[in-house]
This record gives sequence, structure tokens and C-alpha cells, in this order.
Amino acid sequence: MNLELFPEEIRPYIIPKPAGKLFYRCLGCSAEFSIEKLLYVCPDCNQVLLIHDKNEAALSQHTGATWQKIFDYRKMLKIPALKGIYRYHEFIGSCIPLDSILYLGEGHTPIVEASPHLKEKTGLNFFYKNDGQNPSASFKDRGMASALSSIKYLIDQNLVSDVIAICASTGDTSAAAALYVSYLKPLIKSAVLLPHKKVTSQQLAQPLGSGANVFEIPGVFDDCMKIVEHLSSLYPVVLLNSKNAWRILGQESYSYEIAQDFDWDMANKVVVVPIGNAGNISAIMNGFLKFHKAGIIDQLPKIIGVQSEHADPVFQYYLEPDENKRCFKPVNTRPSVAQAAMIGNPVSMPRVIEITRQYNKTSCHQNVFFIQVKEQAIMDWQLTANQNGHITCTQGGECLAGLVKAAAQKIVTPAETAILDATAHAIKFSEFQNLYFKNQIPDAYDIKPNSGFINLPDLITPDNPDIVPSQEKRLDRKEFQCFVQDISGKIAKKLNL
Ligand SMILES: *Cc1c(COP(=O)(O)O)cnc(C)c1O
Ligand SMILES: [Zn+2]
Repeated sequence: MNLELFPEEIRPYIIPKPAGKLFYRCLGCSAEFSIEKLLYVCPDCNQVLLIHDKNEAALSQHTGATWQKIFDYRKMLKIPALKGIYRYHEFIGSCIPLDSILYLGEGHTPIVEASPHLKEKTGLNFFYKNDGQNPSASFKDRGMASALSSIKYLIDQNLVSDVIAICASTGDTSAAAALYVSYLKPLIKSAVLLPHKKVTSQQLAQPLGSGANVFEIPGVFDDCMKIVEHLSSLYPVVLLNSKNAWRILGQESYSYEIAQDFDWDMANKVVVVPIGNAGNISAIMNGFLKFHKAGIIDQLPKIIGVQSEHADPVFQYYLEPDENKRCFKPVNTRPSVAQAAMIGNPVSMPRVIEITRQYNKTSCHQNVFFIQVKEQAIMDWQLTANQNGHITCTQGGECLAGLVKAAAQKIVTPAETAILDATAHAIKFSEFQNLYFKNQIPDAYDIKPNSGFINLPDLITPDNPDIVPSQEKRLDRKEFQCFVQDISGKIAKKLNL
């Protein structure tokens, strides 16, 4: 819609102007640093950082109701820079000029109501928010749009040049990084490190297809991460892992979209998130906190973080009810079908601890819960969801398994509405489905295929196996008719037609 057609009182605010004074703050020692340097951990104490705005007071220049209107009207604009996560510019990266924003179609992913059969089966009311419908088919695109826009901004301001972006990944970060970096060629080059044989072939194909330098490393994700950290301490590289605080900032958009899609009403809402490196759950909680502080939502939704029994350091940490006695211990992971979340030593642990404390405090009661689920439940709920019209990855299956378990523990009731994060598209993880259907899942996963879910192609051959159509030799008319009738009859019989 053309700007002149917007109501006059809102018109000056529809197109955001760069404002805000962003800075990094260390979660360990609270030291503050300029965003004009590439920085990932505190130079003093080596802890992770979060981005804050010195000009935060500007967010109270409008009432919550006015912000709602601004975002609702902004939805009608046709300006590419404001079509994705930067619809919430003032909350996502207020200093970035619109012409430094990189938009590849990320954000505003569909929220799809659970099918009637799935609701009946679980006795619960829920939606999937399909973040697999982002450009590289996972939520990582939200953080990457933010991280690469911030780098484009530094390049445009002549503050950095000759950038090499690097990341370690359980698959999806590298797919997203390679995609966004390749769009900025030749300003930036990218290198991604993947644990050898620990990402699916689809996830390996993605950064290769985007032209990144791809390195496979023996070991698991946590080992790759150490190499990336070592490289970034020796060379001037842009780190695109979730250590990068811009990633967290961009991923906050997930909560803003939920708030807007439910017309700003967060009463009786529950948001369910799988946890790996714990960046996403930190971002989602932080986003809701910011909107709450600005009066855009008047209630914080309940948050449920889910981990597999095979990679559950965050769940283990919160098992201790006494906050003062909690002590973080990394775990050794075991093979998990929720492979993108198979992390034993989450980079964002300090962020989760800090933000969870704030979230519960602001809610005035416990409003963040951590649930552990079995590998079997992850796989069975993923297949159940997808056999009822959804397109969720194994991590989304983990969310549904977590929701069902939370309901059994009375943490969630049927009167609430849950929003489940389908963090990636099902096709990225179809290898696990194949193994399940072929009864070939290695023992270490602790999954036994349930015959009710198994679905394999049924090869239908004619009575005379020599008379079949082929590209090299076409059948004559009579033979072909015979073939069609024979095969059709066999299919009709199988389908009980
Ligand atoms: C990265 C990833 C996760 C884990 O998110 P964190 O921010 O690391 O906790 C979950 N699911 C998918 C599909 C992912 O790519
Ligand atoms: Zn510090």
C-alpha cells in the first residue's frame, strides 16, 4: 500500500529510520563494547554477549497499541527490506539503514493449526509454526539475515573489508550461512565446518550448492566448534555461529510474529522449542520480554524447552530446583534423530540461565519449563504429525513429544494453545524416516520401528515381467493396453476399490 493511504497519525512511523545506539554487553562481567568491531566473546572474560540499545527509551515513545498499529500497517508495505524480520526494525536492529538490509525471503512463516485428527489424538490444542519454510529450510535464516545485514552495514560504512565468514554446524547453520554469504559475493567468502557423517546428505548438499568452502571434520559438532573458535582467535574472521549475538537478535523475530499472528493476545499461549545450542530458545524468550516491556503484549506466554534424552544438558541443569545449587555440566551426546539439536555443551547456556531467570521474574511465577523426551517419542510423533498433514522435521517431532509429555505432567492443559517450533523442513531429515521405514536405525538411537507408521513403496509388476514399457523399447498398442489393465487391476485390488 502507498504511504499516502495510511492514517495520518501513523504515517511518520511506518518507514523506520536508522536510530538506536546498539552495543554488546558481556553476560559474564557486564562490560560493554562497540558493535563497530567484529566481536563474539568478551575480550576480558571470554563469555558470550547480547546486543542492547542505549536508546532503548525510544521504544517507549509509542504506546503498545501504537506499536501494534505500526506493525499491522507495515505488513501492507511492498518494501523488500521491511518484508522479513525487519518489519520489527526498532526491535531487531534499529541502527541498520534499510539499504544495508539483506532480505532473501525469511520470516513470516505459516502458523498451521494441528489437524482435527491430531488434536483428537493428543487431546491438545496446538499449531505448528513452520520455520522450515524459510529460504534454506530452517529458522537459522532469521539469525543469518540479521548477522549478514550487520556485516553489510559495517562494510557499507567502510568499517570492515575482505571478510571471511566461518561457522561450525549441525547442518542448518552452514546451509543458511552459505546461502546468505553467497548473495553478498564478492564482498564476503564463506567456509563451513561440519562433523563428518553427522549431517544429512541434504544438509551437506546445501552449502556445497551455494559455493561455500566446506570442510568435514572427524568428531561431533562440539569438536568442530572448538576448531572454529581457535581459527577466530588467530585470524580476522566473521563467526556465524550463535555465539554471534546478531544471530540471537534476528531470531527474536519468531516471537514477534507469533504475537502479531495471534493479534497480540498471549493469554493461555504456550511456545514449545527444541534446544540444541540454546540460541533459539534464548532469542524467543528475549523477544517476548522486549515486546512485554514495550507494552505490545500484556502477558508472557509459557515457554517449554525440549531436549532428547540423548543430548540433554539444559534439562539436566534445571533438574535441581534450588537455583543456587544448580551447576552446569556438559554431557556426552549419544546419537539422536533430532540431530540438529544434538549438542552436549551449548554455547548459549549463560544466555538461557540469565534470560530464563528474567522471564520467570517478569511473569511473577515459573513460566519456563524444560522437558526431556525419548528418541522413540521424537520419531513416532514426527511421523504422526506428518501423516496428518504437517511437514515437520525431527526437532519438530521433539516439540510434539515434549508437549504431550508436558500435558502428562500437568504443565500444559487442554485449555491452553501451544505453538510448536517446526525448526526445519521434513525433507532435510528424511534419511531418518527412511531408516525407520526400512527398520535400519542403528541400535544406539534406541528406536524400534512401530509397524503402524512404516510406509514403503509397493512395486507393482505385470504377470508377464517381459512386457513392460521402457524408454528404449515402446510397447505396441495391444501390449500396452494389456499392461495398463493388468497393473490397474492390481492397484484396485490393493486399495480394496
Ligand atoms: C539449530 C537447530 C536447532 C537447535 O537450535 P539452537 O538454537 O541451537 O538451540 C533445532 N532444530 C533445527 C532444525 C536446527 O537447525
Ligand atoms: Zn566479560
